[in-house]
Amino acid sequence: MILLSPNPSITTMSQNIKYLVIHCTATREFSEVTSDQIRHWHLDPPPAGRGWKQVGYTHLIHLNGSIEQLVPNNDDNIVDPWEITNGVAGINSVSVHIVYAGGLAADGKKAKDTRTKAQVLAMRNFVLQFILKHPEVKVAGHYQFAPKACPSFDVTFWCRLIGIKSQNIYVP
Ligand SMILES: [Zn+2]
Repeated sequence: MILLSPNPSITTMSQNIKYLVIHCTATREFSEVTSDQIRHWHLDPPPAGRGWKQVGYTHLIHLNGSIEQLVPNNDDNIVDPWEITNGVAGINSVSVHIVYAGGLAADGKKAKDTRTKAQVLAMRNFVLQFILKHPEVKVAGHYQFAPKACPSFDVTFWCRLIGIKSQNIYVP
């Protein structure tokens, strides 16, 4: 189905999900992040925000492991235009993006895997469930598509560690 949108970049055919991309909020360890903060960062007009039409992630994993949905998603195998989030320019129409609160050391600069035990567990469960629902998906880290440290850990290694089959792990 072709859907028209005021934003030409999302005037697109709905496509199958190819990637589940993991991000961090690039905030200090042990600092909570709210969905409102993310909305301000991404949706407010520049210079305060990025001026995007939609936030960068569908789900936010809080420090205590609770998962907050930021953008409605009907969970089918298609990325509908209204489900598109702006995590990585160029692949958003075939991606679902999730984010954990954290990713920076206490200095606020150095990339660091700051996931709490609860976040690791929640992320693991989310990713494994996602693969069950979308058996063709490949799990990736933002850094695999852009020169960034995000999400501040080796996603390929972690995927293997939690037993994800290589067919579901993105290799560039
Ligand atoms: Zn990212």
